[in-house]
Amino acid sequence: MTCLNGKNAHFVLIPLVAQGHLIPMTDLACLLADKDIHVSLITTPVNASRIRPIVQRSIESNLPVQFVELKFPSAEIGLPDEYENVDQIDNNDFIAFFESLKLLREPLEKYLQDHHIPPSCIISDGCNPWTTEIARSFCIPRLVFHGPCCLFALCDHITSKHKILHNVTDYSEQFVVPDMPLTLRFTKANAPNFFNAPGWEKIRDDAAEAGRTADAIVLNTFEDLEGQFIELYEKEIGKKVWTVGPLNLYNKDEYSKSLRGNKQGVEKQEIVLNWLDSHKCKSVLYISFGSIARKSSLQLKELGFGLEAAEKPFIWVLKEAEITPELNKWLSEDFETKIGKKGLVLRGWVPQLAILSHPSIGGFMTHCGWNSILESISLGVPVITWPHFSDQFTNEKLVVDVLGLGVSLGTETVCWMPAEDDETIWVHRDDIEKVVQKLMGEEEEAKEMRRRAADMADRAKKATDKGGSSYNNITRLIDSIMQ
Ligand code: UDP
Repeated sequence: MTCLNGKNAHFVLIPLVAQGHLIPMTDLACLLADKDIHVSLITTPVNASRIRPIVQRSIESNLPVQFVELKFPSAEIGLPDEYENVDQIDNNDFIAFFESLKLLREPLEKYLQDHHIPPSCIISDGCNPWTTEIARSFCIPRLVFHGPCCLFALCDHITSKHKILHNVTDYSEQFVVPDMPLTLRFTKANAPNFFNAPGWEKIRDDAAEAGRTADAIVLNTFEDLEGQFIELYEKEIGKKVWTVGPLNLYNKDEYSKSLRGNKQGVEKQEIVLNWLDSHKCKSVLYISFGSIARKSSLQLKELGFGLEAAEKPFIWVLKEAEITPELNKWLSEDFETKIGKKGLVLRGWVPQLAILSHPSIGGFMTHCGWNSILESISLGVPVITWPHFSDQFTNEKLVVDVLGLGVSLGTETVCWMPAEDDETIWVHRDDIEKVVQKLMGEEEEAKEMRRRAADMADRAKKATDKGGSSYNNITRLIDSIMQ
């Protein structure tokens, strides 16, 4: 048996090309490089350009991390060049987009063959089952990185083991996840699985098989947060689960926090942080729904009316793709004028981690993407939950029902990308007003939630500090590969 040392260990990290997957794996890449491991972070030109400055900082500090930009096969699936990230894709193209990812296999194998240090292991996103064969052909371990919480990974495993999604045919039919220490009810549409819509069955089964045959699992969570589920999950799958989060805590300075995920964040850093500086501690609600979930103009206006009625200071982020000319006119000529200094409306990508780290932030209305939830938890910010699709419903149950760190808006329906003129109102202004006042108010329930959030943030920090559970797990994970 050959023992590797840091100089000849080479970890190959393969994130899914979606912001919520790319961002934590970039953190992981920099963290491993900081432990003197040679890291290849596999991505494509558009995605690389978004995160290059953050990796560049590591390279400039002489950390052994390397960007690998494989040409994305957009043309093969009839997409325009430069469509390389899930946030650029419309509903109809999603399946073809996922199918096309496996075309990266050949160029990746070529890169690994030509590299002067042979690969020691692959850490690949759970949504990249096409990497299984690469690990096999190089005879190296393959670890699966799951983006969401451990509760999701556990429920996904159990529903898959019992073939529940195969057996339930109606997407609105409810089922309870068996063998769990608590009652968790889902419909097939909002079940704990990434690929539970018609047409996705093959991708879903391939991803489950890739998880089943992985050598170990890496999760962005920590023991104090999900201890009971981590233990159960390890028992269920019979393999090691390395919990290494919250990965966002490894971004220590303001500049890294603003650069994270997309260099565009830096452009808004000054205006946002100055605005926050002018507000009282824990008085501002931050509203953002991640990188993919979209809302119709009607629903966005309804949200705006709810925020106005709640009368609490807020920062509200809207995506470029959601802003029609008509909505933009309403925002700038009507809403923003009425709101005045009470609210800051931001368009496009914002430096979320820097915003959540600011002491004026007291609450976060979120779509419950796991990164957003974990960033909030690790920074002691309680949440208002409005899940839209896939893991977000499970993440909501964890943060609201299990941890008591949030208030739900009560949506159970999957709403992925409604048409701009969709007339459904999923959440009404009165409910928004009530929930915002509850979370941002001075009632005992809100204060208690803030205390719990502060306590969990403290534990998150301890987990990633020297000697903490996640810190130690990184070292042990590296050791397990080196031997
Ligand atoms: N994010 C950001 N600025 C934005 C929108 C998102 O920095 O304007 C980051 C956010 O901090 C998180 C990630 O993008 O790290 C989104 O991941 P999440 O799992 O919350 O949601 P997804 O985008 O995958 O639905």
